[in-house]
Amino acid sequence: MLISENVNALRQTIDLTKVTVVAVTKTQPQKMIRQAAATGLTVFGENRVQEAAEKIQSLTDLACQWHLIGHLQTNKAKQAVALFSMIQSVDSLNLAKEINRHANNIGKIQDVLLQVNVAQEQSKFGIDPQSVEVSAAEIDGLTNLRLCGLMTIAPFFEDPENARSVFQATKSIFDQLKSKFAARDYFKWLSMGMTHDYIVAVQEGSNMIRIGTGIFGARDGR
Ligand SMILES: *Cc1c(COP(=O)(O)O)cnc(C)c1O
Repeated sequence: MLISENVNALRQTIDLTKVTVVAVTKTQPQKMIRQAAATGLTVFGENRVQEAAEKIQSLTDLACQWHLIGHLQTNKAKQAVALFSMIQSVDSLNLAKEINRHANNIGKIQDVLLQVNVAQEQSKFGIDPQSVEVSAAEIDGLTNLRLCGLMTIAPFFEDPENARSVFQATKSIFDQLKSKFAARDYFKWLSMGMTHDYIVAVQEGSNMIRIGTGIFGARDGR
């Protein structure tokens, strides 16, 4: 299927006035990203800094934003701050501090999301649900970061219905923080849902979905 057909089909299933689509471009060549941009998509997600750097530099003519959605090593924080409008994958306080330091060095206010490992899977990055409140408060105190919300990756279930409780739990943590951060109008994003489970995620309150294969078709590996 053509990218434009995929995007049209996706748009029929969600209310675009309420949900932002992050088109996940990892492994995709420039040409495909240009096709996605031509459908009106403006937010792109990459999960590796090095791969993203090359693409971003060759696509500077596109009016789009780039989000980092994959685990970030502290030694690449400097590069990430230079490249991404939002870092969705802040999964430790130490990383948040490194991002803050580099943002401060270049006079940038860096938008970030805190990644929560709600299902507490060993294989996944993210802060444990019981530590989120303390971590969020500390991040809120870092002057060059804007904590804009939460991100989660649900475990893979054959039936996405089984991910519903994970999305519900994330939404409940999000709502608690949102009331705490009521004065921060930028604390508003709940990034959850991928191709396989975004319908359930949106039903449970997601307002940012990260879609790769649903737009570009199957990819090899990650
Ligand atoms: C690859 C990836 C996605 C997109 O996955 P699809 O199943 O292709 O939609 C979303 N979020 C993260 C963090 C990813 O690494």
